[in-house]
Amino acid sequence: MKSALIIGSGLGGLSTALRLSHKGYDVTILEKHHRAGGRLNLIEQDGFRFDMGPSFMSMTYELDELFNSINEKNPIELEELDPLYQVFFEGKEKPRLIYKDLQKLQEEFKDIEPDLANKVDKYLSRAGQFFHDTEDKVVKSNFNNKLEYILKLSRVPLKHLPYLFKTMWSEVDKTFKSEEMKIIFSLVAFFLGSTPFQTPAIYSLLNYTEMRHNGYWKVKGGMYKMVEEILKILERNGVKIHYNTEIVSIGNNNSKLNEVIDQNGKRWTADIIISNSDAASFRGKLLGRKNYSEAKLDKMHWTLAPYTIYLGVKGKVDKLMHHNYFLGSNFRGYADTIFTSSINPQKPYYYVNVTSKSDQTAAPEGHENIYILCPVPDLRFKKDWSDKEELAETLISDLSQRTGFDIKNNIVTKRIMAPDDWANTLNLYKGSGLGLAHDIDQVGAFRPSNKDEEFSNLYYVGASTTPGTGLPMVIISSKLVTERIEKDYATLS
Ligand SMILES: Cc1cc2nc3c(=O)[nH]c(=O)nc-3n(C[C@H](O)[C@H](O)[C@H](O)COP(=O)(O)OP(=O)(O)OC[C@H]3O[C@@H](n4cnc5c(N)ncnc54)[C@H](O)[C@@H]3O)c2cc1C
Repeated sequence: MKSALIIGSGLGGLSTALRLSHKGYDVTILEKHHRAGGRLNLIEQDGFRFDMGPSFMSMTYELDELFNSINEKNPIELEELDPLYQVFFEGKEKPRLIYKDLQKLQEEFKDIEPDLANKVDKYLSRAGQFFHDTEDKVVKSNFNNKLEYILKLSRVPLKHLPYLFKTMWSEVDKTFKSEEMKIIFSLVAFFLGSTPFQTPAIYSLLNYTEMRHNGYWKVKGGMYKMVEEILKILERNGVKIHYNTEIVSIGNNNSKLNEVIDQNGKRWTADIIISNSDAASFRGKLLGRKNYSEAKLDKMHWTLAPYTIYLGVKGKVDKLMHHNYFLGSNFRGYADTIFTSSINPQKPYYYVNVTSKSDQTAAPEGHENIYILCPVPDLRFKKDWSDKEELAETLISDLSQRTGFDIKNNIVTKRIMAPDDWANTLNLYKGSGLGLAHDIDQVGAFRPSNKDEEFSNLYYVGASTTPGTGLPMVIISSKLVTERIEKDYATLS
């Protein structure tokens, strides 16, 4: 039986463990944190439960594919969101509801955006064509080299080419009349680690996945249920997980990576090693690769860092829904400075998630669990977060004012995670929340490969390798790396 060692138990690592253990590999997972899941994690505090990072799932059919591939019924109960979320614009008292149903969306915005259903329909149809023309050819493919990737890209219909050179903002600007609609449709650019003024228009495919294709889903019982259900199957499959175990260096190696060493000096060996630790920084920090030195990593384009607050609050905040966005004024100015500013934002844009709205077990009766996520520059630009309480105060007072509920004086429990906490807890490079960004020169064969350049038995899975970041993408990543391993080693089942 071949043995596989997976470094990290993020969703990418866990999904790979599911696939390999099903195929008969003897799988061991080493995890730095005390709990599995990586960014898909859980905070339990004073009777409250919070999703630590991800709060919604998209492209849910990737979960079905994962469980089908191991002959298991998908055990995760999902509930589709419609409205998807609500958006609070600065200075406007009434939030806007964002519906997947275009007639309802048109009704919601009829005062500022005429003929909206028709405009969105055209916009999403174009984005959808691009999505379907690239999903299998590019997103779900392994590439051995750049030439192979470019040849695959050349099979994508030429009609999409102009969208590589236009920005997302130019497309929404052309499509919609109201500033509000333009902003709503371009927010997805920030998830990719860029701004709508720089992101190519092709990434409007994310609008398509959220608003038409498969939508946004929440997990019944909280996002962490996904991890708990996977862990049950892994246990049945005999997969061993060692927590509080961080791989900090490598041992003697030849053309293979024969051993990796943890913080206590213990040496771990296996036939195959898969890093679910960031694919770029692992190569730099642990393998000492020159192309991934700190100076080179710093020059790469990383996604924004998360600044998160978890609040247990007494009372019910009626104005909040499950998913809420709070936007400031001066969108362009915000976009221009958000990645590189070294000071706390004065008028932050942020997202609020309240699972106690629909899950009675997430907070004690008569209370809410409020999770605030504010994207901020990573540690390259703002190194010192000793002032982290200040930003929390700004956010909590803004949220109180805009919801008309005195949150500050009703807090019964609170935790803050600034970018340095995210970096230290999960080894996220300089605290970048979603890993490497998705610029054209950082995707496909230009993204760190899922197969190592030197060690023939070392592979990578997760957000900073192919195809990219986000929960469905790292599930696809686990499929791609398993295909690689199967091709390199004979299948055992
Ligand atoms: C705040 C936030 C909100 C998000 N919201 C969403 C969302 O709503 N929907 C969505 O689809 N995506 C969301 N994402 C993105 C999503 O969480 C990630 O893309 C995905 O979870 C990454 O999974 P991964 O497999 O790359 O591993 P990770 O989650 O990064 O896990 C890697 C694991 O490896 C461990 N590790 C690292 N180095 C070592 C080492 N040397 N030794 C041992 N262990 C190590 C870490 O501790 C960690 O547990 C969000 C991310 C963040 C930060």
